Amino acid sequence: FDIHEEKLSSTEKEFENALRPLHFDDFNGQQKVVDNLRIFVEAAKYRGEPLDHTLLYGPPGLGKTTLSNIIANELGVGFKITSGPVLDKPGDLAGILTSLEPNDVLFIDEIHRLQPVVEEYLYSAMEDYRIDIMIDKGPSARSIQIDLNPFTLIGATTRSGMLTAPLRARFGINMHLEYYDPETLKKIIKRSAMLLKVPIEDDAAMEIARRSRGTPRIANGLLRRVRDFAQVKGNGTITSAIAQLSLGALNIDSYGLDEIDNKILLTIIDKFRGGPVGVSTIATAIGEDADTVEEVYEPFLIMEGFIKRTPRGRMATALAYEHLGRNIRTANPM
Ligand code: ADP
Repeated sequence: FDIHEEKLSSTEKEFENALRPLHFDDFNGQQKVVDNLRIFVEAAKYRGEPLDHTLLYGPPGLGKTTLSNIIANELGVGFKITSGPVLDKPGDLAGILTSLEPNDVLFIDEIHRLQPVVEEYLYSAMEDYRIDIMIDKGPSARSIQIDLNPFTLIGATTRSGMLTAPLRARFGINMHLEYYDPETLKKIIKRSAMLLKVPIEDDAAMEIARRSRGTPRIANGLLRRVRDFAQVKGNGTITSAIAQLSLGALNIDSYGLDEIDNKILLTIIDKFRGGPVGVSTIATAIGEDADTVEEVYEPFLIMEGFIKRTPRGRMATALAYEHLGRNIRTANPM
């Protein structure tokens, strides 16, 4: 059961889009970020100017795309969406930039993965709403300047530190999204259930919320699966018994840790006697890349108290031992 974005199928994407809030009022949580964005959006609208370029950073599934869509909607402008890895050539970017209407929002997901040549094009586009493109080859090659409509770039990344300094400097607004608490996830689950027209008991929504790894995308994905169990094994209503039964069947543990989270903890405990061990060593041992471990998995494990960061590397905590049923006394003393 894997619900990270890259692996979403087209039906899952459709499902996500159906549940995506379209207004600030429907967006739960991230209160500070939303309060600030409301002001910036209103001010830009009042002045008839594009919103400043905005960088949203935080782990996958926390609502970066959703918020960007809401911003465009609340500004009453068009919204175009692309991603760093998709834009391989400057021409791809030029095509999108020249198609923007005044004050439109262009969303670039995974902006830290832009090719350097494409990134350089963005600089003048962001700063002066202008791009230089090369036409022809060889001796007759020359560059022509194209003026663009003013626009807002919203970049999303898992961590702002992954951006180059010149790119980071061109964003006027910088916002960090945090993992959601279970109460907020519960509200999101209830809203989604309502849109899906599935009755859900309060306790059941809370049970799903607690096991959603602080992430709305995971909460909605679990809701979708639990709904199947309710329809097949129950009478259609998601009761807390149905929620427990289905979450158990899906191997979602009581903390909402997924397979990779558990693999990371087991690796630290079993292979490295509880640590300290470096992130890249952990990543190699489980066959994931180090950035993914550091940006996607580790922040949640640290927040929930399963891992500690020390100057010599990562260490598993007593909670991790207890959760995995390992005996801490057999491990390396600190
Ligand atoms: P990201 O771009 O950060 O990876 P998305 O914006 O694609 O995340 O959000 C993933 C899913 O979670 C979407 O289906 C969206 O509807 C839902 N979602 C995210 N944040 C919220 C929120 N605050 N309230 C309600 N639903 C949310």
